[in-house]
Amino acid sequence: MAYHSAKSVEDLRFKDDGLTTITSEEQEKVENSVARNYLAYMRVSNLDPDLSLYRQKHVQYLKRGLHDLSQSYECLDASRPWLCYWILHGLEMLNVQLDGEEYAQTADFLKRCQDPYGGFCGGPQQIPHLAPTYAAVCALCIVGTRQAYDVINRPKLKTFLASCRTAEGSFTMHQDGEVDIRGAYCAVVAAHLTNIMTPELFEGTAEWIAKCQTYEGGFSGEPGLEAHGGYTFCGYAALVLLGKHHLIDNKRLLTWVTRRQMRLEGGFQGRTNKLVDGCYSFWQGGVFPLLHTVIDASGNGHLLSNEKWMFDQVALQDYLLMNCQLHHGGLVDKPGKSRDFYHTCYCLSGLSVAQHFVNEYQTKLTLVGGQDNKLAPVHPVYNIGVQHAADALKYFRKLPLI
Ligand SMILES: [Zn+2]
Repeated sequence: MAYHSAKSVEDLRFKDDGLTTITSEEQEKVENSVARNYLAYMRVSNLDPDLSLYRQKHVQYLKRGLHDLSQSYECLDASRPWLCYWILHGLEMLNVQLDGEEYAQTADFLKRCQDPYGGFCGGPQQIPHLAPTYAAVCALCIVGTRQAYDVINRPKLKTFLASCRTAEGSFTMHQDGEVDIRGAYCAVVAAHLTNIMTPELFEGTAEWIAKCQTYEGGFSGEPGLEAHGGYTFCGYAALVLLGKHHLIDNKRLLTWVTRRQMRLEGGFQGRTNKLVDGCYSFWQGGVFPLLHTVIDASGNGHLLSNEKWMFDQVALQDYLLMNCQLHHGGLVDKPGKSRDFYHTCYCLSGLSVAQHFVNEYQTKLTLVGGQDNKLAPVHPVYNIGVQHAADALKYFRKLPLI
């Protein structure tokens, strides 16, 4: 709670300069609800100095979702591998080990989502799509057993990825689908993790991604559109994996992403003039470890801290712990919103990034609340647990490059 004080909460409010708009009114409403939480906490903080992560409640919420989903999840019937990934990744960050049977069942379900011609579908008997392919590959790597790794049909996965490739190197989300920067990220990650990444498969991809950087500095879904947090992480992480981060203006990206952290709230917004949202804790917060590495490698390491990322890690933890947790488990976009597995996964991912600083020299923990709040660190490019990523890379690197 080092960031917020009664004075700062008032000083940091958005100033509309007397020109009220729908956007400024919405911003004021969110600031009021967030400020109420901060001020209420400050009134009791002398009695209860620890700001707790409701660990057991989040674990219960996530575990229940692995077995039973309410009717409200019907609309995600084409995102079932995503549900596996969000839940498994949430649980691994909370250091929960499931039993062998639960992991085996998940791997078996994902096997049924694999298309006979390669790639993974939103559910059994659906069409293969790059987004659930990313989610399924990551979920299987989190399961981390030989049985899970071997679910992935690598030659056919490569055929599927190649079928989504366009002549210029961008990727459609599925055959005859829309071109989108998420497609490039999902394809690069799936190929990199499983050791099927060849230069021909990604020829021109980095150059296409670079065209998605906008005048603001962030990335859009395709060239010419508005910079957005989710697309920015996808584009930049893919460039880093392709070793082509020098193709874009890194300084402008840094300027854009640092300005997305909200002054009063402490969380991130997804786009300029939008409201704070917990999921951008990762989509924006996750860009900083990548930028740190790139700036360090470019010979400008002396400009960087050896202990902190270039955003306020305490303010982000304040936002997540005080505004995004539900007492009965699960995390949310902002106060007043309902919980879901997507926001639970990405709020926790952002919290993990805000807690763990890691560079080639040292690791440094910045922890709001007690030691019990500590999450497992995440891999900065794939967003799965660091150890699970290392184990998967080790396994697939032993197999021949296809
Ligand atoms: Zn969100």
